[in-house]
Amino acid sequence: VCAVGWFARPTSSHVQGDGTSSQYLRKFLDEMKASNIREHLRKFTRLPHLAGTKQNLVYAEQIREEWLSFGLDSVELVPYDVLLSYPNKSQPNYISIVDQLGNEVFNTSLAEPVPDGYEGVADIIPPYSAFSPKGQPEGELVYVNYGRTEDFVQLKREMGINVTGKIVIVRYGKIFRGNKVKNAMLAGAKGIIMFSDPADYSAVGPYPDGWNLPGGGAQRGNVLNLNGAGDPLTPGYPAKEYTYRSNLEDGVGLPKIPVHPIGYHDAMHLLKYIHRIFSLSSTLKLKPPVLAPTQYRYVILGGHRDAWVFGAIDPMSGAAVVHETVRSAGKLLSNGWRPRRTIIFASWDAEEFGLLGSTEWAEDNAKLLQERAVAYINADSAIEGMYTLRVDCTPSLHTLVYDLTKQIASPEEGEEGVSLYDSWHKRDNWTSDRDAPRISKLGSGSDFEAYFIRLGIAAGRARYTKDRKTERYSSYPVYHSVYETFELVERFYDPTFRRLQAVAQVRGGLIFRLADSQLLPLDANEYAGSLRRYVLSIAERAEKHPEEMKMYRVTFDALFSAEENFTIAARDFHVRLQNLNRVRMVNDQLMYLERAFIDPLGLPGRPFYRHLIFAPSSHNKYAGESFPGIYDALFDIESSANQQQAWQEVKRQISIAAFTVHAAAMTLTQPA
Ligand code: GLU
Ligand code: ASP
Ligand code: CA
Ligand code: ZN
Ligand code: ZN
Repeated sequence: VCAVGWFARPTSSHVQGDGTSSQYLRKFLDEMKASNIREHLRKFTRLPHLAGTKQNLVYAEQIREEWLSFGLDSVELVPYDVLLSYPNKSQPNYISIVDQLGNEVFNTSLAEPVPDGYEGVADIIPPYSAFSPKGQPEGELVYVNYGRTEDFVQLKREMGINVTGKIVIVRYGKIFRGNKVKNAMLAGAKGIIMFSDPADYSAVGPYPDGWNLPGGGAQRGNVLNLNGAGDPLTPGYPAKEYTYRSNLEDGVGLPKIPVHPIGYHDAMHLLKYIHRIFSLSSTLKLKPPVLAPTQYRYVILGGHRDAWVFGAIDPMSGAAVVHETVRSAGKLLSNGWRPRRTIIFASWDAEEFGLLGSTEWAEDNAKLLQERAVAYINADSAIEGMYTLRVDCTPSLHTLVYDLTKQIASPEEGEEGVSLYDSWHKRDNWTSDRDAPRISKLGSGSDFEAYFIRLGIAAGRARYTKDRKTERYSSYPVYHSVYETFELVERFYDPTFRRLQAVAQVRGGLIFRLADSQLLPLDANEYAGSLRRYVLSIAERAEKHPEEMKMYRVTFDALFSAEENFTIAARDFHVRLQNLNRVRMVNDQLMYLERAFIDPLGLPGRPFYRHLIFAPSSHNKYAGESFPGIYDALFDIESSANQQQAWQEVKRQISIAAFTVHAAAMTLTQPA
């Protein structure tokens, strides 16, 4: 059940100018208080609230009541019936080492040791891999590093090891776990174990003395390969009660081999043996996650509510931030403000089970959204480190992000009077040739996916992060474990809650400016600049094969020329903006710019990944790939059996990209 609420735009044409709007923005930012965020986080992390459970519904109802009391015009709970996956309580999952006689000489643990203060808490689900099929495969154990494409290639090509019929053990980190499972399946493994390596999830200072993962802790998580489908049984359509459902066997992205996660204490035992057996069981059960907006142009702030256990970082640090944003916006409302465009706030469900709530709601409201949505800002975990800001967004949002962060204070101690922009810039300069704080491409693994990659709505996300230069672990050590408690955040990540406050101001400020600026704060020139870099980089990749390029007459000329058209169209467009009063028209052009990159046919084999410029990497769902169609066609091209055919596909993908960029450029030209 997702909770979706909104402030509608004014019904009359009575809207204030941008001068008043920026005064309101200042008030809106200043109203968000660190101490309130602390209270919201405390309140929503007392009990486990997994998707499909009573407690998660209770929190949804509580959020609805509080959002209404903050002043939203309307809040609805929208239910969908989606496929979820829970472990079997009476037959817990574990892995055994079995001797010749069949005796289990070592078994992995059935649960994580519970942190102090949470001893009596019911319904802490043990670590498991959601959507693993049942099964008890037995076999030799093979270690495959991080389980990445390149790790399996190395194992096979360089070490000559075949994993067919074996069980692979890989460490967590670097890539989305679902990709690891897919790679293991493709390699012919009959089961896969994932463990948290201290090298990545750090052995020193385990919780509660530090913020690292204890040896008995393990990372939960889904192991699907949905490629944007949402609920596995209802791809393309919202999972309402009357909706047609496919059979489980035909469900999208379900793994075919058993999967189980363990901590590093257990992993050390298994790695000692590196062969023999394991047993697994898990069952799949059907269970739930949501709305319908009102009028004209929409700006959406959405993040999930469901958590593996207490979820104090993932996702409640984000949900607490959204809560404070709604409260602050409500306060403005009582001072007479109305946003120029409707703002929709969403508390998604079942993100952890494959982005299900957000995707079903997007399917449910696709027609309205593709006609009316201006932007989507994501609000998952607001913190994953203690170092600086991290922003991933569409290129057209770059300028707004920079503008806004100059108006927000750095949360760091000793940086009084320093802007968030300067603090961030100092810690993470983008590249040697670009003097600005780093902004990355959007990948996936959170709820913006359907909005950005399927529907083509400008999107972005922002959170506090770790130092990418010195900290090597993936995500944060206690990610998806029972140790994600309120105390973890309060003691280690953000004792003053000022980092979360800064993130609230960034996320809130983005939706405020997108909803209330007369002229949409989207920058087509930035899109042009990024496109140029992506074209250069993909062409460079192809030019590693000069002979073949010649032989098969592959050229990037059409793509370079489309990109040039785009650059000119964007530049002329922004020049026209300077002295134009047809705001409605140019705002529509800006809104539909992102939509112009959507190909209704989708990428090869991934019909719900329809954005031609960005897609989640085929090798790591968390990472973004630019010109994904061309990239995938070029990937590992040497090993393709039919070179002629493989290069034809490269040519086809270049032409599709060139056409799409050219067509997008046309949307920016002056309408006849
Ligand atoms: N955020 C969740 C995870 O990383 C779900 C991601 C997804 O299914 O795309 O486990
Ligand atoms: N924490 C993940 C991310 O940052 C998402 C998740 O696991 O919910 O994208
Ligand atoms: Ca569906
Ligand atoms: Zn998560
Ligand atoms: Zn999350």
